[in-house]
Amino acid sequence: MIEHTLTVAGATVDARHWIGGERVASAETFTDVSPIDGCAIGEIARGTPAEAAAAVAAAKAAFPAWAATPRAERARILHAVADGVEKRLEELAIVETTDNGALLRSHRHGVMPRVAHNFRFFADWLLKLEHEDFDTRGHTNHVSWDPAGPSVLITPWNAPLMLATWKVAPALAAGNTVVLKPAEWSPLTASLLADIAAEAGLPAGVLNVVQGYGSEIGDALTSHPDVRRISFTGSVPTARRIAASAAAHLTPLSLELGGKSPLLVFADADLDLAVDLAVEQYDNAGQVCLAATRFLVEEPVAEEFTRRFVEKAGQLTQGDPRDEGTDIGPSIHPRQLEKIDGFVRRALDAGARAVVGGHRKDGHYYAPTLLTDVAQDSEIVQEEVFGPVLTLQTFTTEDEAVRLANDTRFGLAATLATGDRERAERVTARLVAGTVWVNCFFVRDLQAPFGGSRQSGVGREGGSWSFDFYCDLKNTVTAPNGWSQDHG
Ligand code: NAD
Repeated sequence: MIEHTLTVAGATVDARHWIGGERVASAETFTDVSPIDGCAIGEIARGTPAEAAAAVAAAKAAFPAWAATPRAERARILHAVADGVEKRLEELAIVETTDNGALLRSHRHGVMPRVAHNFRFFADWLLKLEHEDFDTRGHTNHVSWDPAGPSVLITPWNAPLMLATWKVAPALAAGNTVVLKPAEWSPLTASLLADIAAEAGLPAGVLNVVQGYGSEIGDALTSHPDVRRISFTGSVPTARRIAASAAAHLTPLSLELGGKSPLLVFADADLDLAVDLAVEQYDNAGQVCLAATRFLVEEPVAEEFTRRFVEKAGQLTQGDPRDEGTDIGPSIHPRQLEKIDGFVRRALDAGARAVVGGHRKDGHYYAPTLLTDVAQDSEIVQEEVFGPVLTLQTFTTEDEAVRLANDTRFGLAATLATGDRERAERVTARLVAGTVWVNCFFVRDLQAPFGGSRQSGVGREGGSWSFDFYCDLKNTVTAPNGWSQDHG
């Protein structure tokens, strides 16, 4: 007998889909496992193509009324969702940590407050969204953002609720209805979000959640003729499949994908700051798309940088992500660990040297690792590992630094440490990246455009860019004459 609700660290989580304002069970389930100890959390609904289609149908049915709901009312409901997130912040934080193994303290103090902020920000932005009318030979041009329709949002496991709501909030604000498909390795908080949204007064069918494997229900969602937008965060191979599937109806896509971002450390940098930025790249056990996983360090300071990095990395505590003192938790899944270990083994076989880590630990834990003596064209420098594995290379000129930084198929982010403002401007202008951080890392503002260049993504979301994506933009040109009745 399958239990429909799970008790997770004291919280009650419904394991079924949420479709048209009702819980819907699947005939099949899959087992959700906690990366903290490898223990089963419970059985989750394993969606079928028919259930995915039912969720799209529910989103389609709810769309006209939600699209016609005045902006102020949509914004009010989104603020009520944010209130609900804040009210249940502790519960969301512990459930997310149990499910994906990221640090409880960062869920409490950073991630879940940001989830609430996602709703507040896009609710407020909606209310000020406008383009000034303009004139063409006496005719008035008026630009409007029309809701586009049912939107399929597909998200990964590394920051489940944060990344889901970064899409859900603007899509709902835009007047679209949503089918959310969370990752199968961390499905729980999406279900809690459905509860919170319903309590906040979001009408039935406006937000739907379908659980399950992307390989089994992905196509049913992404090739569906009634879906008007697809926003995906995940890996490049999955993005290719989604793009091919979406091609059936030319459904517009937003793709936020992987990275292999550089941290450039120039000899004129504040070295303590550079080392702090470098050690930060182990955050979330390296499962961060934006992580600067390739250190490029100017030759004269490379030895000293490495010495200080090794010292600082040695002070990090790895262990149970629920403990306040833990800096690095587990990797999400045994398959991910195998993948990480494979990358490191092959790099070591090819001549790399592990100056930090380089091996698995007990359970789901991989030792924070720094590899040197790596070639620019090697797999470990070119491919995303998505674990606590960093590489270090040196350079001697600014040109070489830029060449190495840009020499991968990705272009998500880049981080620079330099004491020279003009150099920062010169180098930034030449870097291929959606986000560049100068002497800082991970400062993110929701009004900034966010996305990747090259194979790190297609399109940008954030601020007005999100509304540009989730809406059909319309320009209405009105002649000054021709009126037989004018009520104005
Ligand atoms: P993934 O591509 O394996 O899975 C992501 C989601 O896609 C999951 O929900 C999965 O079920 C679904 N999926 C799988 N096959 C599908 C299909 N055929 N059709 C539709 N959906 C399908 O990625 P992952 O391993 O969960 O996440 C890690 C990746 O995400 C990394 O590459 C990371 O860099 C990237 N990422 C990018 C950003 C960003 O903002 N650019 C943020 C976080 C993570």
